[in-house]
Amino acid sequence: MYDVIVVGAGPSGSAAARMCAEAGLRTLCIEEHGTIGHPVQCAGLLSIAAFSECRVSSRSILNTVAGARFIPSEGEPLVIDAGEPKAHVVDRCALDTEMAVAAAKAGTEFRLKTSVTSLKGNCAVTKGIGGREEIGFSILIAADGVRSSVARMLGLGRAGCFLGGLQAEVRCPVDPRLVEIHPHASPEFFGWVIPSGNGRARVGLCGEGDLRKRLADLLRSYDGGVLQLVSGALPLGVPNRTYGSRALIVGDAAGMVKPTSGGGIYTGVRAARHAAAVAADCCGKGSFRDSDLARYEKMWKEDFGRELSVGMALYRARRGLSPAEIDDIISALRDPDIVREIVEHGDMDRPAALVRRLGTNPRVIRAAGILLRGGLRAFIT
Ligand SMILES: Cc1cc2nc3c(=O)[nH]c(=O)nc-3n(C[C@H](O)[C@H](O)[C@H](O)COP(=O)(O)OP(=O)(O)OC[C@H]3O[C@@H](n4cnc5c(N)ncnc54)[C@H](O)[C@@H]3O)c2cc1C
Repeated sequence: MYDVIVVGAGPSGSAAARMCAEAGLRTLCIEEHGTIGHPVQCAGLLSIAAFSECRVSSRSILNTVAGARFIPSEGEPLVIDAGEPKAHVVDRCALDTEMAVAAAKAGTEFRLKTSVTSLKGNCAVTKGIGGREEIGFSILIAADGVRSSVARMLGLGRAGCFLGGLQAEVRCPVDPRLVEIHPHASPEFFGWVIPSGNGRARVGLCGEGDLRKRLADLLRSYDGGVLQLVSGALPLGVPNRTYGSRALIVGDAAGMVKPTSGGGIYTGVRAARHAAAVAADCCGKGSFRDSDLARYEKMWKEDFGRELSVGMALYRARRGLSPAEIDDIISALRDPDIVREIVEHGDMDRPAALVRRLGTNPRVIRAAGILLRGGLRAFIT
């Protein structure tokens, strides 16, 4: 019998397991794969703040970037260069492994090559190398990713929508200090070129439809030989409830990916922190009613709920924009004062404050008007 069972050893699961073990809870983490961090389904771009939330050494860092170039369909890119480190590009497998090792060092037991197949009261039914088992828990933290079967078992619903993602790591010369954002590479989201060090770049996109063709088109300007292909899915939109029946759901399992960037590690690890605090509290009191667990949802919503809802509104507005309107927004933001404002106040994990700030700047009225039109169009259609 464990105090806590964590399902999934991705960043959200390992962070939750580590914090539960550090709080003195008897913790078991169950992972269906035999190796932590495989398969990689990520571009590995983490803001400095997101990386420090992971509480690991700098071993997994491959490169550090200072800003981004937004590429319109014609003309010069819009460059937002902070001139100082803004984000790390990491080896995701190394990051996940280090996070799991830290959880193990804190006292978490791990069971690899074992999956949770169903729940029976407060037992997780597992299938693994040891065959079928029933393992008891006081509280369960579901960190089983975008296809979360545990959230389904609990009847907690799914993310509002899903986007596919496809990425190739290629050898090609790019500016190692700046990420490239290609809004035209994928009309529902965007494409990216992320310099991953040693003359390599991660060229990818998320969206709907024929992603292979879109990636092939984007790769035309960068392809110096594909070294690795990555595919995955982004869950956007948190289900109505993220707790219930002695369980809390965190990270991709709860659709916590940021709809503006597709990043899910920051929110997943923050949610893990709140889940671990509530698990410790419930175990301390010996009370696991839904009313005790509800505090988890209150905590993550207070922390980053607004960021997800502002992000969702921007995502919807973006979907309603034509390619010409995207170019108009890029050109409207090309004002040096606005660029300065973005450099000073932009935060890829918490875009709401910048949106609020820019909303009061008369110079961005043209861009805001275009976005609003896109939002209305997406709402009507
Ligand atoms: C193309 C692409 C690019 C991305 N780029 C970025 C980026 O640059 N930066 C960023 O922050 N985010 C990025 N993301 C999102 C990021 O990868 C996820 O948000 C992040 O991995 C979520 O972590 P998690 O721990 O919640 O889930 P996961 O990392 O998916 O971990 C879930 C774990 O649960 C295990 N599991 C599943 N079911 C079971 C079961 N029944 N029993 C036991 N184990 C189970 C899985 O094997 C897996 O190890 C990207 C996503 C995609 C698709």
